[in-house]
Amino acid sequence: MEVKLLKATEDPEETICTAARNDYMEEFAGDKSFKEIMTTIEGETIEEKKETLIGHLLKQGHFGPFEHPQATFAVKGISRSCMAQITRHRHVSFDVRSMRYVSFDDVDPENVAEGEMVVTPPSANDPDWVGRNQKGGAVDDETVEKREEIFRESVKRSVEDYQELLDLGMPPEDARFVLPIGTEVNMVLSMNARMLMHVADMRAAADAQWEIREMTEEILDLAKEWCPITFEYYEENMKNRKNRLAP
Ligand SMILES: Cc1cc2nc3c(=O)[nH]c(=O)nc-3n(C[C@H](O)[C@H](O)[C@H](O)COP(=O)(O)OP(=O)(O)OC[C@H]3O[C@@H](n4cnc5c(N)ncnc54)[C@H](O)[C@@H]3O)c2cc1C
Repeated sequence: MEVKLLKATEDPEETICTAARNDYMEEFAGDKSFKEIMTTIEGETIEEKKETLIGHLLKQGHFGPFEHPQATFAVKGISRSCMAQITRHRHVSFDVRSMRYVSFDDVDPENVAEGEMVVTPPSANDPDWVGRNQKGGAVDDETVEKREEIFRESVKRSVEDYQELLDLGMPPEDARFVLPIGTEVNMVLSMNARMLMHVADMRAAADAQWEIREMTEEILDLAKEWCPITFEYYEENMKNRKNRLAP
């Protein structure tokens, strides 16, 4: 899996603060410099003032201003299972690599068995891995070797069958039905800062699956570089809180 920040609103925290100050200013925010807009906010420097206001907004649950800045991420190599989970979030915009127009006719099924094209879950080769709803706990090496063998054989066979169906003239959009749910996709996704916090609430949490959790943690790291005051506050004060519900 690889996650990159493609594009994002410039000066996102200036936008958040301007939007929030607009709510309580008699004057038109469009006529004022950012410095003027922030005059009454506590702090010596403009950075301190931004920290004061953003901390206050997040603490009070005044989340509307965080809907203005938006970021676009490119994600490489997540499973269709992970895709199904993330695309449940209705305020995120997505583009997903098509399996109707992109066919995997030149992929070597042997390489698929070695981890190409299909995501291998850690429980397929790590004896100590314990996932949710798993019967028993850690397993011995022999059991995990057996798991790995079955997993590899199964994905190899489905790619061989897929390619044979393509050779028999079946369209890629129909032949893909035999491919596993672990088949990799690349996607581009965009969301605003408020939604990013909501996705993190649900998908960076301990009860989310390892793959979407990893993706969300990577998105959060990039968000911290893009919109630092907001996502550092989120990390320190909001992440993993109980009773989260749509910030
Ligand atoms: C650990 C975990 C397990 C899950 N298991 C399952 C499962 O077994 N089966 C399954 O189907 N799903 C499952 N889900 C998905 C989950 O039920 C949600 O559909 C998904 O996480 C989207 O989040 P959301 O409901 O907050 O909606 P989002 O689309 O992220 O919307 C954000 C917020 O906007 C508001 N909102 C959006 N649309 C509406 C609306 N129509 N009406 C009212 N308010 C709205 C809500 O406040 C919502 O929280 C699981 C999620 C997690 C994290």
